[in-house]
Amino acid sequence: MSLPEQLYKLQQIDQELQRKEQELDEVENLLSDDKALIAAESKLASQKEQLEDASRQQKSSEWELEDLQGKVKQIDSKLYSGTTKNPKELVNLEKEVKGLKSKISTKEDALLGLMSQVEEIEAKVKTSAEELERLRREWEQRQPTLGQRKSEVETVLVKLRENRNGLAQQINSEALNIYERIRLARGQAIVKVERGRCQGCHITVPTSQWQKAKAGDLVQCNSCNRILYVE
Ligand SMILES: [Zn+2]
Repeated sequence: MSLPEQLYKLQQIDQELQRKEQELDEVENLLSDDKALIAAESKLASQKEQLEDASRQQKSSEWELEDLQGKVKQIDSKLYSGTTKNPKELVNLEKEVKGLKSKISTKEDALLGLMSQVEEIEAKVKTSAEELERLRREWEQRQPTLGQRKSEVETVLVKLRENRNGLAQQINSEALNIYERIRLARGQAIVKVERGRCQGCHITVPTSQWQKAKAGDLVQCNSCNRILYVE
C-alpha cells in the first residue's frame, strides 16, 4: 500500500470511528433518558396530594354537617317532648332550628361540590397512574434492546481502534502528524483527485503534482492544503 493509500484508509477508519462513537453516545443517552418517567411520577404524586387534601376537606365538612344535624335533633326533641312550656322559649328554639337548618343547607351544597371535586381528582389520578405504568413498561422493554445495541457498537469500536492502531504503526510519524493536523483543521485530511481536480476544494491540480501523488509521495493541495490521493 502506498503512503497516500494508507492515509486514505486511515481516514476511512477514523470516519467510521467517529460515526460509531456518536452512535454510542446516542444509545447511552437513550439508556439513561428517564425524563418522561420522572415527569409522570411527579405529576401523579402531586395529584395524589391534591386528592388527599380534597378528601380531608370532604371529611371535615361531613363532620360539621353531622354536628349541626345532631344539634337540630336535640332541639327538636326538646320542642316535641312537651317539657318546654314557656312560649317565648319555644319561639326561640324554633328560631334556632331554622337558623341551623339554613346552615345545614349551605353546608350540604358545599359538600356536594367537594364530593364532585374528589371524584374528578380520583379520575385524574387513575389516568396518570395508567400513563405511568405504560411508560414504565415501555422503559423496561426498551432497556435490553438498547443494552444489546450498546454492546454491539462497543465491539465494533474495539475492532476499529485495533485496525486503526495497526495501520497507524505502518505509517511514518511525520506523515501521520501532517494527517492529524489537517484533519483537526479541515475535518477531511486526504482527498481524491478526480478528473485532475482536488475533491476537497475543486481546484485543478498541476499534472506534476498528481503524478507524484500517484507515485506514492505525500503531496498536499496548493489551494486547500489537503493530502492528495490518486487511485
Ligand atoms: Zn484542494
